[in-house]
Amino acid sequence: MSIPRKQVAVIGAGLAGLACAHHLQTAGYCVTVFEKSRGAGGRMSTRRFDISADQNPVSTWQCDHGAQYFTARDALFIKQVDAWIALGVVSIWSPILHSFGVKPDLQSQHAGKLTRYVGVPGMSAPARQLARDLSVRCEQRVVSIKKQADQWMLAIDSQNNLAGPFDQLVIALPAQQVDDLLAASTDVPLAFVEQARASTQQHALSPCWALMLHFAERLPLPFDAAFVNPDNSKPVLSWICRDSSKPSRPVGESWLLHASTGWSSQQLETQNTDVIQAMLAEFNVICGLNADRHVPIHASAHRWRFAQAQQSLNAPGFIWQPQTGLGICGDWLNQGRVEGAWLSAYHLAQAILIGK
Ligand SMILES: Cc1cc2nc3c(=O)[nH]c(=O)nc-3n(C[C@H](O)[C@H](O)[C@H](O)COP(=O)(O)OP(=O)(O)OC[C@H]3O[C@@H](n4cnc5c(N)ncnc54)[C@H](O)[C@@H]3O)c2cc1C
Repeated sequence: MSIPRKQVAVIGAGLAGLACAHHLQTAGYCVTVFEKSRGAGGRMSTRRFDISADQNPVSTWQCDHGAQYFTARDALFIKQVDAWIALGVVSIWSPILHSFGVKPDLQSQHAGKLTRYVGVPGMSAPARQLARDLSVRCEQRVVSIKKQADQWMLAIDSQNNLAGPFDQLVIALPAQQVDDLLAASTDVPLAFVEQARASTQQHALSPCWALMLHFAERLPLPFDAAFVNPDNSKPVLSWICRDSSKPSRPVGESWLLHASTGWSSQQLETQNTDVIQAMLAEFNVICGLNADRHVPIHASAHRWRFAQAQQSLNAPGFIWQPQTGLGICGDWLNQGRVEGAWLSAYHLAQAILIGK
């Protein structure tokens, strides 16, 4: 008699959720991923736009508006990155880098010695590669989790639409969204909620406004990307990048600006049009561009409510309680960033597989 395969649900199709799902599925588990958005990738995200003439799309442009590039230091992640390179979904990006007002002690970090990787043809490519062999149900927002005869059910979009049952459940969401989910889920044992909350309170993610710009002509700037930390107390921007300088991007001139955490927090509820105006004005000032001459033909702002976790050394890596069958992974549990998200997922999957 064959033993039934363990049913696992993963909530969130960012890199962490997909990597965890991939490891469990490879080990023989039956995994379903639930994602609230239209596609996989989460904060490793690429936006595509049509350029129209007479209301007909004539070409497209694109921009990575979340993670910009990633690094690989851990041997396990280096192996994964090599596999992605072999599959053609990741390449090395070697930008001409510049720093505006960056403190001397950070300059060597920014000086370009790091190997920087990007997804190709867009940042979402490695996540989408992982998603290809998985069952990912998009546009399915999980609003709460419920216990039914020792197994877990997911309430999707409304309390009446239930998916399951599942033996084990992986939550792969930003810290604040983990809190929201657990607050709405009265069947989750208090010990798990308390363990989760001890981490989510410490590792909350900060917001970031992103501005994507497309120009008809190349801007006269001698760099592909710049760290911005002007010597004033309230910097608007933190990062400027010629997105079209990344490998395998469409021909054209596309730029991405990230606002600083402080400015993004202050302007969180500001209208998109005002954000576009303020960030573009700062871009022109910092780069010394003539605002009348270099007018973007397309500008689009995106607000990341939960963008980046602080790189904290005391984060536990992942959370797993075998007695409840509940686990949590994500970048914020492993020092933030793409590598941290993947490692958090990998180590959670190993813990689930050994059943401890
Ligand atoms: C502006 C910005 C700049 C960044 N720059 C860099 C960088 O340069 N280098 C770097 O390494 N990292 C960078 N990062 C961080 C990097 O993107 C993240 O570390 C990584 O992508 C996190 O992956 P994750 O799977 O943990 O979370 P996420 O990618 O956030 O995945 C969570 C997923 O859960 C989904 N979801 C949320 N709620 C629900 C729900 N209720 N039901 C179902 N699905 C849900 C979301 O839609 C999302 O797809 C940046 C991030 C941002 C936003």
